[in-house]
Amino acid sequence: MIYHRCDGCGVRLPSDGQGHFIVNVEAFAAAGRLEITEHDSQRDYAAEIRRLIAAAARMSADEIEDGVFRKWRFDLCAECHRRFLRDPLARARP
Ligand SMILES: [Zn+2]
Repeated sequence: MIYHRCDGCGVRLPSDGQGHFIVNVEAFAAAGRLEITEHDSQRDYAAEIRRLIAAAARMSADEIEDGVFRKWRFDLCAECHRRFLRDPLARARP
């Protein structure tokens, strides 16, 4: 039988779904405003792509993903869910 534990406190969650909450979190790079200028038509895009590929080759997969997109799923008990809703960024603060 498959069962879940709360990612906050470790308690075993009931298999009937009562008191079991799922929290999905996504973090991704914001897209800036797109403006195309005269300067853009003169850029060497092939050189820029080569520079980016070389920079990516020196990074780990985690470093690359951290700079673009990350997604997490947390299974929480009712108490940890309430605590999360009161202060979603509690663990993110230094
Ligand atoms: Zn919990």
